Amino acid sequence: MSMSELLPNHAGGQWVHGTGPGTVLVDPVLGDALVRVDSGGLDLPGAFAFTREVGGAALRALTYRARGELLAAIARVLLANRADYEGIACANSGTVKADSAVDIDGAIHTVSTYARLAAQLGDSHHLVDGEAVRLGKDESFRSLHVQVPCRGLALFINAFNFPAWGLWEKAAPALLSGVPVIVKPATATAWLTQRMVRDVVDAGILPPGALSVICGGSAGLLDALRPFDLLSFTGSADTAALIRQHPAVARHSVRVNIEADSVNSAILLPGEAPGGPAFDAFVKEVAREMTVKSGQKCTAIRRAFVPAELHDAAAAAISARLAKTSVGNPRNETVRMGALVNRTQFEAVCAGLEQLKQEAVVLHDGTRWPLIDADPAIACCLAPTLLGVRDPDAASLVHEIEVFGPVATLMPYRDATHAQHLARRGEGSLVASIYGADEGSLAAMALDLADSHGRVHVVSPAVAALHTGHGNVMPQSIHGGPGRAGGGEELGGLRALGFYHRRTALQAAPGVLEQLGR
Ligand code: NAP
Repeated sequence: MSMSELLPNHAGGQWVHGTGPGTVLVDPVLGDALVRVDSGGLDLPGAFAFTREVGGAALRALTYRARGELLAAIARVLLANRADYEGIACANSGTVKADSAVDIDGAIHTVSTYARLAAQLGDSHHLVDGEAVRLGKDESFRSLHVQVPCRGLALFINAFNFPAWGLWEKAAPALLSGVPVIVKPATATAWLTQRMVRDVVDAGILPPGALSVICGGSAGLLDALRPFDLLSFTGSADTAALIRQHPAVARHSVRVNIEADSVNSAILLPGEAPGGPAFDAFVKEVAREMTVKSGQKCTAIRRAFVPAELHDAAAAAISARLAKTSVGNPRNETVRMGALVNRTQFEAVCAGLEQLKQEAVVLHDGTRWPLIDADPAIACCLAPTLLGVRDPDAASLVHEIEVFGPVATLMPYRDATHAQHLARRGEGSLVASIYGADEGSLAAMALDLADSHGRVHVVSPAVAALHTGHGNVMPQSIHGGPGRAGGGEELGGLRALGFYHRRTALQAAPGVLEQLGR
């Protein structure tokens, strides 16, 4: 194997190479070595201090409007380099163009959205939260809540499946808030994150220290956190548990946002006919969610619930769609679905599938068809599998195990209450989608599922052609779910800024409070 390029980290305002041997990133389809990453030997405490003191101060000196202009400039740089990003995604993530676009265009769209939202905040350095209220027996002493940018840094520890969007959906609200960012992408796909940061840093848009990237192992990162720092983690529930217990996080009350795994549901409402518009929308969405990014989306549909009498029709219709999904080398134009991200994930998905098969039967096995343009001994390509469980009350694994690949399980339910109960057995999910024609029933079910889901996506025939998709996270809506989904909350328009601000009550005379806007 030829020695591949070692990507530098950007830390402390400088490009620095790690001093270790590095981890080689590999093309999951061809098996070729691509680049190496290494975070060994970095002065993390020094880099973190630079980020807080130099990057943070420079960002806070700008108004929201000015920071929004920086975001707009970032979006332009990302757009200008889009073709390079697509090439990196294809090589490192094994994704077809449409799947790379979910990540790359999703990132650019999110940054652009926050650039526009900034205009609403104007030329201010803080946010006012509500009205001043009387504290004493007359109006001469009041309380006003303000939100000011946190003076720490925001550390992002990200998952492998969204190297582009995973960075920018967090960085856009952080930078708009005036908080500097250090991102540590998942090692497997760190290249795209690193390249985007490199392009933005080289374009000279941001003040020094505002945006850093550390690729490779996570050793020492959490130890370098200090009071007022923020930590945003996306990844598995197991790593999330380690992070919550980390001494620096516990001792310094580091504010933590966690986006973890989730066993999301799709529910076809009772009373819909097979082949009807709601049925068709449901079938289309289940098949699409299983195959987009090879099912490697935290929001993907893992459990699909249908009225018992529609089980067989739904199984046949979803299978018919999946049978059209050609799998293999994403460079081949006829291929619809590329690879899983690496051999480790391929094996984890295969193992998860075997576990689910302990209580499920296989309704559709895409692996019966050969891969296109890909050597099954090398390529981490796995065709979609639809599983079925006839008695979802008796089953447990299917409600617990998130198989992070092109796998979903179809299950019958008795009535709406039963469907809601089954969805809740996921113990807190990022998203549920519901499909039906009766607006009253849809609204009732949406509200019933709201406590256990970050987002409820409702598809009625009127929106079947234009809805934004079960699994697509839009910057206008919040992303994150309770319980096992991590309990985090991101995006949601300007709501995202809350994480990066400190809310403080100012108690003073009206004359003092009136000075605040000046
Ligand atoms: P992971 O193994 O938990 O890794 C996530 C990140 O944590 C990586 O950057 C990883 O670095 C880092 N990490 C690992 N051990 C660590 C430690 N002890 N201390 C600090 N950082 C550590 O998860 P993954 O396999 O990459 O991601 C897949 C999972 O993410 C899935 O379960 C998926 O559902 C979830 N996910 C959730 C969302 C969401 O928004 N809720 C979005 C995407 C993915 P290395 O790569 O260097 O090990």
